[in-house]
Amino acid sequence: MNTPPRPVVGVSSCLIGAPVRYNGGHSRYKFLTEELDRHVDWLPVCPEAEIGLGVPRPTLRLQDSEGSDRVISSKDGADHTDDLADVADRHLRELRRLDGYVLKNKSPSCGLYALPVFDDNADRLRGTGRGAFAARLTALLPDLPVEEQGRLSDAVLREHFVERVFAHARLRTLLDSGWRPRDLVEFHARHKLQLMAHSPEGYRETGRIVARVGTSTPEEIAASYSEAFHRTLAVKSSRGKHANALQHVFGMISPLLDDARRHDLLAGIEEYREGQAPLSLPVALLRHHCAAEDVAWADSQTYLRPYPDPLRLRHPVAV
Ligand code: SF4
Repeated sequence: MNTPPRPVVGVSSCLIGAPVRYNGGHSRYKFLTEELDRHVDWLPVCPEAEIGLGVPRPTLRLQDSEGSDRVISSKDGADHTDDLADVADRHLRELRRLDGYVLKNKSPSCGLYALPVFDDNADRLRGTGRGAFAARLTALLPDLPVEEQGRLSDAVLREHFVERVFAHARLRTLLDSGWRPRDLVEFHARHKLQLMAHSPEGYRETGRIVARVGTSTPEEIAASYSEAFHRTLAVKSSRGKHANALQHVFGMISPLLDDARRHDLLAGIEEYREGQAPLSLPVALLRHHCAAEDVAWADSQTYLRPYPDPLRLRHPVAV
């Protein structure tokens, strides 16, 4: 089996320990620095430091100005919105090489969700918005898996984000490789269950694109497949969809097993479906039996190995 590609992930610099916050501190997040760090390469960016605001610096806030969210200095009222957004444009070549991005929450530059936006007198909440750098990043790269650090403490969101990052790295590596039609067919076949576990319709849509290989230009196929692949994996999975994917593998291996092992496997899938066992339980059983019985097609499915095992992201029962 080929070595899986190592993803490259953009990150708000303060999250991996750079002392670049307004007060000279950092916001080191252990999941990133002590777990994910072993399996990815980082591209750290601090937009506020890059535009020369200095450390320490006055705080910033999001403020409404004639219907537009602006990033305003609390000290002198300077508007830094466009400069912060331009950081994403300046880095665009490197950002296009990324497989994911982790942004610091509650930052008027990096925050992705529900940042408070004040009225133009800065004394009343008007609504919520997105940080200036985060808004430009997500507009420039709509298919990139992007998540906020605060949400990564949720086991389901963490698992989903990491799964998407590693899938993004695999597809990027393929499309950068001078691929041939059969490479894309093989890639799609390996991702069948992973795509189905998110959206059966998305799996069929990506399959229709693969079927056009040879009748369209490679560039058109690559762009269409990439967009549909990432959109499909962005759909939240569910216990039911996972159980269906597991049943699919079970169907392939079942004729090779004796009654006792078949029963154990079905019981593991049902325990997971009913929320009594983590996803890692039936996946481990299936992997074991696929390897023991040499069921190569099932054993090669990325669904059974979506990211490095030591991350152990399928162990919480909630996933
Ligand atoms: S949240 Fe963004 S702008 Fe603020 S310190 Fe961290 S990296 Fe810099």
